[in-house]
Amino acid sequence: MPATHSLSTRAIHVGQSPDPIYGDVVPPLHTATTFVMEQTGIAKAGYDYGRSGNPTRSAFEETFASLEEGEAAFAFPSGLSAEDTLLRVLSQSGDSVAYGHDVYGGTYRLLTEVLPAEGRKTVGLNLADLDEVAEVLTDQRPVALWVETPSNPLLEVYDLASLAELAHGVGALLVVDNTFASPVLQRPLALGADIVTHSTTKYIGGHSDVIGGVVVVAKGVRLPRKREGWTGTGLVRNEVGYLQNAVGATPSPRDVQLLSRGLKTLEVRILRQSQSALAIARHLEKRSAVRAVHYPGLETDPGFELARRQMRHPGGVLSFEVADETRAKNLGENTALFALAVSLGAVESLIEHPASMTHGTKSGSATEIPANLVRISVGLEAVSDLIDDLERAFAAG
Ligand SMILES: *Cc1c(COP(=O)(O)O)cnc(C)c1O
Repeated sequence: MPATHSLSTRAIHVGQSPDPIYGDVVPPLHTATTFVMEQTGIAKAGYDYGRSGNPTRSAFEETFASLEEGEAAFAFPSGLSAEDTLLRVLSQSGDSVAYGHDVYGGTYRLLTEVLPAEGRKTVGLNLADLDEVAEVLTDQRPVALWVETPSNPLLEVYDLASLAELAHGVGALLVVDNTFASPVLQRPLALGADIVTHSTTKYIGGHSDVIGGVVVVAKGVRLPRKREGWTGTGLVRNEVGYLQNAVGATPSPRDVQLLSRGLKTLEVRILRQSQSALAIARHLEKRSAVRAVHYPGLETDPGFELARRQMRHPGGVLSFEVADETRAKNLGENTALFALAVSLGAVESLIEHPASMTHGTKSGSATEIPANLVRISVGLEAVSDLIDDLERAFAAG
């Protein structure tokens, strides 16, 4: 498969060849926990035990690595287990890890509660202020900088190429959680990042029926501080594979098969969701009940220029502010098509109140989310029906 094929073609063909024996057009689902050996100690096709490796998982990983333009991808049973394994590979007791202060709530909990209990120092940064980032990186000398862009739930856009340069300047690796954009809209490795993570629970699965995660490593990325790691090779890709098997953080082949299926329609889904999100953002911007719309596809948004440079389209999630907290909560209770639920990226449109739902753990902190904010994840319903649904909810108070 030539690397010159475009992303949508690779999503369908790389790692997804027809079965060589029976001719199945899609790779069959391999559920076996163990594999018959060719000879003592010699596996038939590289697989011996289902935790250590599985052909259905390998197929997905090959496709995913191709889409993110990385050297290797590793599928995990959830986004957080992917992040946890990666953070343990990159950092040791005594190291520090820097992160954008508005990262996903579960990532924030890992970074501020779990890792510090094991002797890592973690430091939150305002990624919009590159001078502050440079200063803190120089002062703290972290092993990694963890970035999410666009941010959640305020959809701020951060400059990946500049952040990569600043991180590399102090010997830190840049890790980007690319869940909101997916490889269709943004490819951080091409902008200088070293590692990409995803919650595949969101756009990759895309149908609200599988929890999963992935880590993708760029070519030749080495451990910080010239460490050699458990494998003695110093290569991040080898270390992630080693630790994943050592701690058993491996996904069900059935889940991974759903993710491979999701990848095949990812581009058409997310482009359509992005177009609908832009139409909804433009509609909301004109409405007097809406105080502010946060969506980098709007020319008036502070992230517009940067998003245009580093993303193919700003994506299917947006947030907006209404008069007060009561109205924000009522809106989600009064929609019929938008389901009142956390999560994002699926074919169904979702609506939520971040201050009390996804970002409740941040209340009282410096990064507290405004109580009058509403976040929506735009699905694949007709955009006119979605706008009518929001209008009915506004009218209901
Ligand atoms: C959902 C999410 C995660 C966590 O993934 P899980 O699959 O729920 O473990 C991490 N990062 C972002 C941006 C997310 O939206």
